[in-house]
Amino acid sequence: MLIVDVLTIFPDMFIGPFNESIIKKGQEKGLLKINITDIRDFSVDKHKKVDDYPYGGGPGMVMKPEPVFNAVESIIVKYEDIKPSERYVILMTPQGELFNQERAMELSRKRHLIVICGHYEGVDERIRQFLVDKEISIGDYVLTGGEIPAMVLIDCVARLVPGVLGEASSIEEESFSHGRLEYPHYTRPEIYKGYKVPEVLHSGNHKLISEWRSFESIKRTIIKRPDLLSSYPLSDIEQDLISRLEFNTTKDKKS
Ligand code: SAM
Repeated sequence: MLIVDVLTIFPDMFIGPFNESIIKKGQEKGLLKINITDIRDFSVDKHKKVDDYPYGGGPGMVMKPEPVFNAVESIIVKYEDIKPSERYVILMTPQGELFNQERAMELSRKRHLIVICGHYEGVDERIRQFLVDKEISIGDYVLTGGEIPAMVLIDCVARLVPGVLGEASSIEEESFSHGRLEYPHYTRPEIYKGYKVPEVLHSGNHKLISEWRSFESIKRTIIKRPDLLSSYPLSDIEQDLISRLEFNTTKDKKS
């Protein structure tokens, strides 16, 4: 089971996303446990203040260290059986390492994730220096708070926990798993508004279908995300496929 503890000053933001679909089922199956903690409950201030002015002046407010340290420490003592090596304390920050499928896979192998959502100008630097194991960004842009980034991270990691998704094979084949974008999918009807499903997909020939899918996967990676090829160069088998099958880069046409 993967346990995720989220620390936020806006707990209500999490009501919807984790109570629907696959993430909800994962919790019902006992494979995931997602707890939301209000950082304000750990404020030492009588007005439940969690932010203060920045030393040195400047715009905005900074999240105070005490409530965040207190919240994390109170969560850790609850799970005596979880070793430090089985846990990450994560800070969502635009300055962190860029989140991707590989990092999601690594996080899904832990037993416990504590995810801290920042707000305002960010958090007191001592949180980053002395409390956090990992700083993660969901992209090179700045959002108002860490809640939406935390939801992105948790959704992505949770579906990689064994058993959460119905078919494990869908994870193996999907985009970014091996540095390739996934092949295209079609469903019924066979012809819609004159647009036809590729013939090979209803040929019943599994070898040809698998070859077609690999080819399409390489093709769309080369066209849409050539940058992925620098980390995952084409294998001999893939190069052979490209030379054997027609490589058409024009947009699909109505037949
Ligand atoms: N002043 C900070 C800076 O320039 O690096 C940005 C603070 S941002 C307005 C407030 C909070 O939103 C951050 O502390 C972080 O938790 C979250 N956040 C914003 N953008 C993010 C991103 N791209 N990835 C992860 N977290 C982000």
